[in-house]
Amino acid sequence: MIPGGQNFFYKNSHLTVDGIPILEIAEKVGTPAYIYSANALITPLQELQKGLRGLDHLICYAVKANSNVSILRLLNGAGAGMDLVSGGELYRASIAGVPGHQIVFSGVGKTPGEMASALEYGIFSFNVESIQELHTLNAVAEQMGMTASVALRFNPDVDAKTHPYISTGLKKNKFGLQKNEILSIVSKRNDFKNITFSGISVHIGSQLLSLAPLAAAFKKVSALVEPLEALTGYPLKFVDLGGGIGIQYKNEKTISLPQYCKLIESCFGKKSRFKGRLKILIEPGRTIAGNAGILISEVLYKKERGKKSFVILDAAMNDLARPSLYGSFHEIIPVDQKELSGTKEFVDFVGPVCESSDCFGSERKISKKINQGSLVAILSAGAYGFTMSSQYNTRPRPPEVLIDHGVIKTIRDREKYETLILGEAVE
Ligand SMILES: *Cc1c(COP(=O)(O)O)cnc(C)c1O
Repeated sequence: MIPGGQNFFYKNSHLTVDGIPILEIAEKVGTPAYIYSANALITPLQELQKGLRGLDHLICYAVKANSNVSILRLLNGAGAGMDLVSGGELYRASIAGVPGHQIVFSGVGKTPGEMASALEYGIFSFNVESIQELHTLNAVAEQMGMTASVALRFNPDVDAKTHPYISTGLKKNKFGLQKNEILSIVSKRNDFKNITFSGISVHIGSQLLSLAPLAAAFKKVSALVEPLEALTGYPLKFVDLGGGIGIQYKNEKTISLPQYCKLIESCFGKKSRFKGRLKILIEPGRTIAGNAGILISEVLYKKERGKKSFVILDAAMNDLARPSLYGSFHEIIPVDQKELSGTKEFVDFVGPVCESSDCFGSERKISKKINQGSLVAILSAGAYGFTMSSQYNTRPRPPEVLIDHGVIKTIRDREKYETLILGEAVE
């Protein structure tokens, strides 16, 4: 079973997206290109909705995973709220028509301007990560004659056992506040007249493959609820449990979403000591978008270098940064199923960018039939793919295509050279 195989599969020996041949899409938009399946985006969202239906809940999709306006609109239409980390993402959410009461704003470095726009938009809550940030938010809210709803972000000092770059719940990480910091802030609540401490939030990292660190974090969060309420003198309204559920890139065993929901239910549901009085927010990003997208690319050249060959693609690290940034693994398969068979060889899949880290996969054992002109699909590229892309080497970023109910929709055009120099002084 290939990652995302429910939606990306061979039919009549051609790779398809929900039955639509990729060859047809490539002819329409060219390569490289991102292709997403609407079905694949909605399926995990519905699984989470189903698992949490016994709880008052809000699923806030983490926009940074894939922020295309059409995708935000699709997910919001299916009931998802949004978790933002910047004013730019708020702008996208507003264009997509996401109502404020379904939005939370996370991140360690919100500017006063971003805070003001979010207050004006009427967002549900801010996840606040430091006392200085809280003072700033209080001042911004006071100036606007408003009250800001806040969930202090708790750093539970739990090892998420994931890549150090995407681990966020350790004391040594820049994220969140420690327990004593939270209690000390809330005990000074009179300094924050324009803040309501309505929630508490936690997010320990990304691409988690085991429930144990989440269970440990949730336990520490629940232990903080009553001490917090004792200090504020009013009940907490919600707990935001963050995102971080991992997906399959290779052959990992991933967390089952029903089990994840059961864990939440057992910590905060009707049978927990909170008796379901707290609203539950979660912020899944990768879980929803990761296996809903692929990056397709054409083989430009192949060249032999001693024992191994280089397959040079027309996609590069600027289009999909994860392998060069984290050394992360993405499965690469031919679009023509016939190119799976025959004599095998070891190759490195590389891009045209002038960096040796511009490599999508090394020592991959593939059929010798994959050669100049072949199309390949780089799988599991729906999350942190396009959103992390750049124009390095002055390469126009690829188009994005959404397959929705059998229709091929271009949801972002390939960038043009003119766009690349937009705003530059050319005279
Ligand atoms: C990035 C991020 C998420 C989403 O993480 P995934 O691993 O994509 O689910 C959720 N919450 C916060 C605060 C984040 O920074």
